Amino acid sequence: MGRPASAVTGSRLDVARIREDFPILDQTVDGRPLVYLDSAASSQKPLQVIDAIRTYYLRDHANVHRGVHELARRATEAYEDSRARVARWVNAADAHEIVWTRGTSEALNLVAFSIGQARVGHGDEIIVSAMEHHSNLVPWQLLAERNGAKLRFVELTDAGRLDLDQLRDMLGARTRVVALPHVSNALGTINPVREIGRLVRGRSDAVLVLDGAQGAPHLAVDVQSLGCDFYAFSGHKMCGPTGMGALWGNRQLLEEMPPYQGGGEMIEHVYRDHSTWAEVPHKFEAGTPNIAGAVGMAAAADYLDGVDRAAIHEHEKSLTRRAISLLADVEGLRIFGPGALEERAGVVPFVIDGTSAQDVATILDAQGIAVRAGHHCAQLVVDRFQVSATTRASFYLYNTVEEVEQLAEGVRTARNVLLG
Ligand code: PMP
Repeated sequence: MGRPASAVTGSRLDVARIREDFPILDQTVDGRPLVYLDSAASSQKPLQVIDAIRTYYLRDHANVHRGVHELARRATEAYEDSRARVARWVNAADAHEIVWTRGTSEALNLVAFSIGQARVGHGDEIIVSAMEHHSNLVPWQLLAERNGAKLRFVELTDAGRLDLDQLRDMLGARTRVVALPHVSNALGTINPVREIGRLVRGRSDAVLVLDGAQGAPHLAVDVQSLGCDFYAFSGHKMCGPTGMGALWGNRQLLEEMPPYQGGGEMIEHVYRDHSTWAEVPHKFEAGTPNIAGAVGMAAAADYLDGVDRAAIHEHEKSLTRRAISLLADVEGLRIFGPGALEERAGVVPFVIDGTSAQDVATILDAQGIAVRAGHHCAQLVVDRFQVSATTRASFYLYNTVEEVEQLAEGVRTARNVLLG
């Protein structure tokens, strides 16, 4: 169900061709063509994903696992085949290492709860960073509070990188968990996760958890070589449906961890006073799952692979380069995140001194340009750079250079309106 190879010419994406798969982009907002630059919050869905979900409901739907009838068999097959497909997306060795969740947030809550029960005690240390999305911070705060553990923070350099020297010094015998983002949604920083993996392994017995919400949609992820134990990601940021995500986990740890929620499907046997658990990953999947969501997420993986992930990444890089060079010319505008293109994803957060980020976004919206303004669920990041909010443009495979130019023009207009 992937795109034909003609979506890529040489290493360049044929964006016009790709946009035919995303009818939502072909509309006007207040008479202006929509320019959708908010994919870091949620990406749009191609027809191929929408069709896969539709076909599933039209033809194959029933509850999974329990039934012996034809539709139950088909639904179970679709659900488990989708697991195998999403396992391949992150190069997991085995589909059973993929636990379906509602998204990155639930995946991270699952790890924090279950690994916390199994491994984190009073006085133990959990290392996070000042770069976290709240989804990779609040679950660890809750765990620290519950178990009497201590949260420690890796700080950020002025360029928006993790201070790895500080991480090195922090790691030790008490470190039980290190939880960091692969890619920052608020700065665009691509963290050197392999290097981090080596550091953590070399200096502690800690479990390394990566928040892959912004990594999996945009970079080729190989969980077998990253050196992490858990990798969490969401379907809706990679052209799949909302309410669907996945956690990849080290099999041994998944076996060791207690369940996250109780209910149907996750048990082996139920007695009056206790129960035994189903095999991994079903032990973590209580209740009727989001079967259509799994089908949609697998279709999204097919679609993006069909286009060519490496070419998508190159395309995002070229849009980011263009955006940074055009925006840097706007007087009083500051861009956050690393200067080197190799170290950043297609996320460009900025402020114009003397204006509010929300006002800038509102004026862009009036021109049909969809961006996001605020702390982007990463309050520690805006605190670190002493701003209350940033305006953030983010790019994906369907964005064009012309749209980036419209963004820059729109930002100039916003600046003129707000500052005269
Ligand atoms: N982490 C990061 C870096 C994110 O960008 C997001 C989504 N904005 C999340 C976690 C949470 O993902 P979800 O809302 O899909 O659970």
